[in-house]
Amino acid sequence: MSRIFSGIQPSGELHIGNYLGAAKNWVDLQDDHECFICIVDYHAITQAYDIEALERRTVDMAVGLLSAGIDPEKCVLFAQSHVAEHTELAWVFTTVTPIGELERMIQFKDKSRRQESVLAGLLNYPVLQAADVLLYKADLVPVGEDQVQHVELMREIARKWNARYARGFFPEPQAQIGAAKRIQGLDGRGKMSKSLGNTVGILDEPDEIWERIRSAKTDPARVTRKDPGTPEKCNIYALHQHFSSLPVIDDVAEKCRTAGWGCIDCKRVLTDNIADYFAPMRQRASELRQSPGQVSDILAAGAAKASVVANETMIGVRSHMGFLPATQTQPAER
Ligand code: SF4
Repeated sequence: MSRIFSGIQPSGELHIGNYLGAAKNWVDLQDDHECFICIVDYHAITQAYDIEALERRTVDMAVGLLSAGIDPEKCVLFAQSHVAEHTELAWVFTTVTPIGELERMIQFKDKSRRQESVLAGLLNYPVLQAADVLLYKADLVPVGEDQVQHVELMREIARKWNARYARGFFPEPQAQIGAAKRIQGLDGRGKMSKSLGNTVGILDEPDEIWERIRSAKTDPARVTRKDPGTPEKCNIYALHQHFSSLPVIDDVAEKCRTAGWGCIDCKRVLTDNIADYFAPMRQRASELRQSPGQVSDILAAGAAKASVVANETMIGVRSHMGFLPATQTQPAER
């Protein structure tokens, strides 16, 4: 059985972009793969973040994932900071990773432009990602297209470490790109992202979904209700393809091309379909929130399972690298 590792930042809200691009795929994979799903809180601190909110956002993300169908009986769900070996292996990997490789990462270039002074944590982000995956010797890494370069780097890190210390110790993981590669934000300006405020949360109530969808960007050719549009140029149509039935999708395209309805009608139908799609997940989230200890217990159990594998890997890493094994201190004789 292939082993999968995937991570998601504790942004608090699981939105339809990371649901369609990641979580839905994990739910499908958990039946016939060994899955490690990690809420990557150490990655979240590589940019400015709200210290007061981090804990709540981590729990909220766990609630979102569990509501979306991640089953802790089939899949190891845990928080990264609960398994110390992630940062330990990341340090080891910094000693085999050329700085030049890190500096050419597209995400580093993008994000470093937004930081006043560029911090080493941001540069080393892909090294921690490599440690996340290789700690569990995962074969497959489900990612969006924007992460493929990072998976290539983790393969290179595995090769370099193996060549220097122990041939074949780490596998070279493969990127698995999900079917829904990239979900555009409601503002039509790029990827759906909580930090850009262009999302719809999977646990949003129907009136919140409507508030967000109502103001979403559409095909600019539809200036008035009488102007025909091109559905393929509209993100609302793209979302219908995920949440509406085939007859409705056909009807949307037809009415858009012929100006048979207004964008507001089209958005109303989409809102109802999104709200219906996620209704069982809202119900599950409400049950989880009524017993707050349940989510903490699930994360603790996940961390305990993950630690067994992580500890075993690190024993091998330290041994191959020549470290003095830790032994129990004997009490001094009197
Ligand atoms: S009718 Fe629908 S698909 Fe066409 S532009 Fe308006 S919102 Fe988009």
